[in-house]
Amino acid sequence: MKYISTRGEAPTLNFEEVLLTGLATDGGLYLPEFWPTLSVDDIESMVGKSYQEIAFIVMSPYVCPEIPAEEFKKIIEKAYSSFRHDAIVPLTQLDSNEWILELFHGPTLAFKDVALQLLGHLFNFVLDKRGEKITIVGATSGDTGSAAIDCVRGRERANIFMLHPKGRVSDVQRKQMTTVIEDNVFNIAVEGDFDDCQAMVKALFNDLEFRDKINLSAVNSINWARVMAQIVYYFTSAVSIGAPARKVSFSVPTGNFGDVYAGYVAKQMGLPVDQLIVATNVNDILSRTLSNGEYKIGETIPTISPSMDIQVSSNFERLLFNLHDSNGSKVRHLMDNLKQSGQFNISEDCLSLAKNSFNAHRVSEDDTKETIADVLKTGGQVIDPHTAVGVNAARKNRSNKEVPMVSLSTAHPAKFPKAVEEVTGIHPELPPHMADLFERPEKFDILPNDLDSLKKYILENL
Ligand SMILES: *Cc1c(COP(=O)(O)O)cnc(C)c1O
Repeated sequence: MKYISTRGEAPTLNFEEVLLTGLATDGGLYLPEFWPTLSVDDIESMVGKSYQEIAFIVMSPYVCPEIPAEEFKKIIEKAYSSFRHDAIVPLTQLDSNEWILELFHGPTLAFKDVALQLLGHLFNFVLDKRGEKITIVGATSGDTGSAAIDCVRGRERANIFMLHPKGRVSDVQRKQMTTVIEDNVFNIAVEGDFDDCQAMVKALFNDLEFRDKINLSAVNSINWARVMAQIVYYFTSAVSIGAPARKVSFSVPTGNFGDVYAGYVAKQMGLPVDQLIVATNVNDILSRTLSNGEYKIGETIPTISPSMDIQVSSNFERLLFNLHDSNGSKVRHLMDNLKQSGQFNISEDCLSLAKNSFNAHRVSEDDTKETIADVLKTGGQVIDPHTAVGVNAARKNRSNKEVPMVSLSTAHPAKFPKAVEEVTGIHPELPPHMADLFERPEKFDILPNDLDSLKKYILENL
């Protein structure tokens, strides 16, 4: 498979290059040149197969034979051996024809593990083959940091420097990062906020000399391999409740648009998806865009679903490229507008195309809490606030009760204990392998909000 940039001006790359590069040199994101499709027979053949087997069927057109099929199978096996449920992503039933897809059984209790555990093993394979080493630098406001650290901890070919805003991530989230004490892991608490952290990381990427010197790499959700890994669970869950004979709908708690975009790709590949619901919290740039075509950056409001407190949804650019018939110059034009004036408008035609594929819904804080309480009362399950946003949007937007509705459950409730306890009175316990999280020693350094200090710190520790 060849990969092209959404802005049409960067070189075409192969899978390994896309994996290591992340962002294209023209500022765009990489996408495969075409969507490989699976026939009804192919999808039927998935019935009764394991997650790992289906993962191979879905992802191999993007990866093989560049990575030999047998090697890729081994990578998939290793990646999902760290999950604590045999089904990897089990489905549980909430109500008649209403389901929850539990994506949080990986090492750090959020759905980001599904993609990042695979990414870690892909990096390992490719870097071993090339005899190279990389330095990963990232900024996190929560879940990405721990999932990214876990995917490379203890690996010889990667060092990771993870920046978080000092005192501004939850205790569970901080501890999940700072109690990883392997030598290749560096946690940095920055005296600033998340935007400061992100600005420093961006500045490092723009410093081409420094970037080359340390072989800088990224694991944020602009990396195609992350989207690719997320396509798989749309297939596994749909097949287990009747696809391809039956259509299935999904509701997806959305921030950066990576997860729900993977659902869109599953549909392009041939999965019979009925509705795809983009569920946002009050940071609703996507639901506004999908209702009136205006993509306009507002101010980020803190909520009880903090992993979706986002104003710029990077992966939306991928959808724009698809809506504009793969015309990179049109995407470039829109992104230039965004840079200059903080907004752009998509055309009537594109908007109606987008509306054919997505329903969008904004969920208030009160509705989120009410849904947590209601799901406990009627279904006996404790769900986290991100999941509740998805369930609420699913219930309000469902067009046909005959079609099964799957809400993606993106985090374990113990990751957000405060909000859950406030609503339900139940303190969600960490799973056994993490029960002693608060007793484990922490390792991190504090740095000022200053680029030169960060550069110095990285060079001294490499
Ligand atoms: C990252 C995250 C999301 C948002 O996913 P996107 O792919 O960025 O849309 C939702 N819920 C949780 C718990 C997350 O960590």
